[in-house]
Amino acid sequence: MQRFKESLARGDIMLVDTTLRDGEQTAGVVFSNREKLRIARMLDNLGVHQIEAGIPVMGGDEKQVIRELVGFGLKASIMAWNRANVDDVRHSLECGVDAVAISISTSDIHITHKLRTSRQWVLEQMTRAVEFARKAGVYISVNGEDASRSDFDFLVKFVKEAKAAGADRFRYCDTVGVLEPFKTYEVISRLIDATGMDIEMHTHNDFGMATANALAGVKAGARFIGVTVNGLGERAGNAALEEVAMALKYLFNVNLGVNTKDFVTLCEYVARASGRQLYPGKPIVGTNTFAHESGIHADGVLKNPATYEVFSPEEVGQQRQIIIGKHSGTKAIKMKFLEYGIDLSDEDAAGLLAAVRSAAVDLKRPLFDKELMYLYEDYLYERKSPDSTGS
Ligand code: MN
Repeated sequence: MQRFKESLARGDIMLVDTTLRDGEQTAGVVFSNREKLRIARMLDNLGVHQIEAGIPVMGGDEKQVIRELVGFGLKASIMAWNRANVDDVRHSLECGVDAVAISISTSDIHITHKLRTSRQWVLEQMTRAVEFARKAGVYISVNGEDASRSDFDFLVKFVKEAKAAGADRFRYCDTVGVLEPFKTYEVISRLIDATGMDIEMHTHNDFGMATANALAGVKAGARFIGVTVNGLGERAGNAALEEVAMALKYLFNVNLGVNTKDFVTLCEYVARASGRQLYPGKPIVGTNTFAHESGIHADGVLKNPATYEVFSPEEVGQQRQIIIGKHSGTKAIKMKFLEYGIDLSDEDAAGLLAAVRSAAVDLKRPLFDKELMYLYEDYLYERKSPDSTGS
């Protein structure tokens, strides 16, 4: 937990990864014990500050793995998730974690229809659980489930009482993903003004805005960002670790000191472990994010990568690919053949380009290197014997 303590003292912006808790709550996803431990080690090596490892009150493997994980003595803080009751927290403390999340709904729709209770009961449950955890000396994040649909004045009251009971921060949960960045900025600014509490953004991607909302929260003064690898999480998922870290670095100029070169390895491992393949256009780690096919783009990138890339592919563990297909230009074709030691003339490159385009349309995809070589052989043959009808 050394990294977490140091960052806390410095007032850094911190990443709270919940791949092992909210990520595993994704419908249909289960990690094996070994996978959970491996993912935790990878997250720690990457440099995240806090790992939300699971829910001890579930018992069995879940509780055992969290105990084992605590034994690793990672640099990250290990947090366990709890409903707002003393028994849940007791299970967490038995695992030896240094931090607990204590969660309860704060919106009237949840209080009335899910919990079937009152705002007053919610405040009492939260206070009792926080006071119990406080006595044990662990770090406490109080979570307002469905905070984004909660009455603002009640939320302020809830956060103030959490703080008075001994909570260290408030996790603002956009449980159903209905925030947008402008609203996020406004509400988080007001909440910090009203309570002076440390805030963690916990955003969901139902409208594709989880990362944007997390950043808007940071702009408003939130210091903690809840993330998952690949944005894994319930329904449309959470804010993605790799997106948040790179967006902070390049759009906000905030460098978290994360080992970004490990992103592809980590993201591919979690993709396999969760059975959720990365789609080609996935920001940061998708296979297409550094692939250039169109003639204008490929030409620009070959002259200077900064023309179409904000950061270099190596920075996140990727490789640049120039794809030869329907949209390619002669410069990319010449470069591709140079890889095979063939220095095409401009004329030959132009001649081949026509053949490449028609083959790509027939196949409805870009071409493999081998197919390019066949096209080249055909082209040479036809050039030698112009009367031939070709094949
Ligand atoms: Mn969630």
